[in-house]
Amino acid sequence: MRRENSIKKKSSIKARVTLWYTILMLVILVIGAAYLLSLNSNISRTAQQQTLVDTVTATIKDIRFTYSELDDAGVDFYRDGVSIFLYDTKGRLLAPKINSGLKVDSVLTDRYLRTVSQGSEKWLVYDLYSESAGPGCWIRGIFPLSHSQETLRRMQLLILAAVPFFTLLAAVGGYYITKRAFARVGAMAKTAEAITSGQDLSRRLPDDGSGDELSMLGHAMNSMLERLQASFDRERRFTSDVSHELRTPTAVILSQCEYALTCKATADKDESLQSIRRQAGRISSIVSQLLLMIRAENGKFCPAMEPLSIGELCEMIVMEMEETARAQDVRLECSPDRSLVVNGDETLLIRMVTNLLSNAIRYNRPGGTVRLTVDADHGRCLIRVADTGIGISPDNLGRIWERFYRADSARSGDGSGLGLPMVRFIANLHGGDVDAESHPGKGSIFTVTLPLAGNGELPQKIRNDSSF
Ligand code: ADP
Repeated sequence: MRRENSIKKKSSIKARVTLWYTILMLVILVIGAAYLLSLNSNISRTAQQQTLVDTVTATIKDIRFTYSELDDAGVDFYRDGVSIFLYDTKGRLLAPKINSGLKVDSVLTDRYLRTVSQGSEKWLVYDLYSESAGPGCWIRGIFPLSHSQETLRRMQLLILAAVPFFTLLAAVGGYYITKRAFARVGAMAKTAEAITSGQDLSRRLPDDGSGDELSMLGHAMNSMLERLQASFDRERRFTSDVSHELRTPTAVILSQCEYALTCKATADKDESLQSIRRQAGRISSIVSQLLLMIRAENGKFCPAMEPLSIGELCEMIVMEMEETARAQDVRLECSPDRSLVVNGDETLLIRMVTNLLSNAIRYNRPGGTVRLTVDADHGRCLIRVADTGIGISPDNLGRIWERFYRADSARSGDGSGLGLPMVRFIANLHGGDVDAESHPGKGSIFTVTLPLAGNGELPQKIRNDSSF
């Protein structure tokens, strides 16, 4: 029903558009033709009158009288379509002697230009009285209008045939173009409907690449669909990753609970409880990290920004992690520029540096080193964590920032694959960025770039209080 309506509406737009420019074309053609005809008739009438007057006036000099007798040897009685007649003062025809058969009115009127009709014939007549050559004489010029009338009539006929022809041509051509354009709109609507009903976001609207308005619309909608598809895919992957990540600890908790309920020995119960606590802690950590990121993405999280001595903060974190590093037989080194200040959320920055350091320790080799440096570079603060660990293969290097991605599941252990996405998220939140370079088997360097606060110097208040 809806489809029928849309087809009805479509054809009605086609018909309306075609009707509109057909009428417009007709009006333009009719006005144009009328104007052209009247202009042409006026121009040719003026030209004919001018020719007649000029020919009659020019005849004066050709007229000779010998002993009061007309000598018409030099007179040209037919010139430029004008027939010349000479009359004496009494109005009797002197020349030409052969009656031309023109029976126009005989009243001679000096310098009087007029149109004379006889039956369907029309003439332009001009009389001139001259005494320049002896006795006076009348010169009459006659210009037949039948020829120009015929031309005008032919032109009218031509226009009469051309106007409907061109109007029809415009209507048919316009209808065809509109039909083609709407056919593409129809195809687009059909694909859009198929996408909606079939939930198949991989389909694209037809785009012939012609660059016209419809092609531009198709292109814009296809880009939108591409973005939508990417976003849906991301969301789908994210949901499946989250469920997958939560399934393992939840299953462990359930089985440990079952075991604890059935076993008698207190030591076994304690072990089960420890395991449950570890898994619950993991779930809690995943949920809190995800919540934080989602709240920030939705604009509902406001970090508590304040000027911080980033060098001193890093130094403190290194001190706190020394025990963990030692347990893994890894040496921690730290050389920060203590004077550098960034505007940041202390808790988030601690989490960011801690994540980098724990990875550098976890993916290191026994006897390896982790080196943390904090420097300034072109008005920005560079936090670098370099390790001598297993490194990351080039294939994995591009994916380590994805949520839940783990390049080395065996080593990752309790890791959730959220550590590095969190690092990047915190860096971005502070107007900074992250980068990683790695040489498999030799080690990796993770660099966080943060904007320095103000002139990058430590305010007096912070300088005096280094305890955090
Ligand atoms: P995880 O919790 O698994 O450590 P992360 O997001 O912190 O998750 O890291 C993602 C993956 O990147 C890890 O599984 C690991 O394979 C790799 N990775 C991160 N840091 C390092 C590092 N310093 N050296 C080698 N591999 C690393």
